[in-house]
Amino acid sequence: MTPEEKELREQICDVGRNLWQQQMVAANDGNITARLPTGEILCTPASVSKGSLTPRKIAKVGPDGAVLDVTPPWKPSSELRMHLKVYKADERVGAVVHAHPMFGTVFAVRGEALTLRMLPESVIHMPEIPLAPYATPSTDELGEVVVAFVRDHHGCLLEQHGALTWGDRPQRRLPGHGTPGVHRAGQLPAQAGRRRTGTARGRDRDADRAAHAVRPVRRTRWGRTPVRPARPGRGDP
Ligand SMILES: [Zn+2]
Repeated sequence: MTPEEKELREQICDVGRNLWQQQMVAANDGNITARLPTGEILCTPASVSKGSLTPRKIAKVGPDGAVLDVTPPWKPSSELRMHLKVYKADERVGAVVHAHPMFGTVFAVRGEALTLRMLPESVIHMPEIPLAPYATPSTDELGEVVVAFVRDHHGCLLEQHGALTWGDRPQRRLPGHGTPGVHRAGQLPAQAGRRRTGTARGRDRDADRAAHAVRPVRRTRWGRTPVRPARPGRGDP
């Protein structure tokens, strides 16, 4: 095993513990994969808590999903096929993480994408989290509904299921990781409350936002979201 593979296996375990500690997965929920420079994929095992991962439990598969290295009795996650679709869609993807973060899953169940501009940090780092239409878990179809978002987003909600994120390395793609996740976590109940309690306050905020001209951001990859130049005649805080 190369030092790089050893390190990547340990990183996957770290991400799993983090997901579990942050209560983004329950029981044996969630799955994590990472791509080696050789093109082979490291994958968390099925039916194992992400809080109890060890490097030895991680399976290695080929780009097509063929099992190359696994320690019995463990076997690759049943959601591996979804992950493989993401890697195939973009050669720059180095890691994929699936979890069931509570607030995000609420919106996934409601069938709503996350589009509210609430805080500057969330606007800059994660301006939009789209919703992939429902597909049955553990099928190729689930990967196919996600592929449309891979090149232009960091992640998406899976309708009536949970959340999926991808990036260049595992730590970058932990759902809810770092500042964007914190602010998104705050946005979720805010978005729910705004829609539930009527639109008066929401309209006020919309008007206020227009008055202050919060600048839209263009979606790019890997967290880099350059802000468009302000349009002539618009304020810019
Ligand atoms: Zn799931």
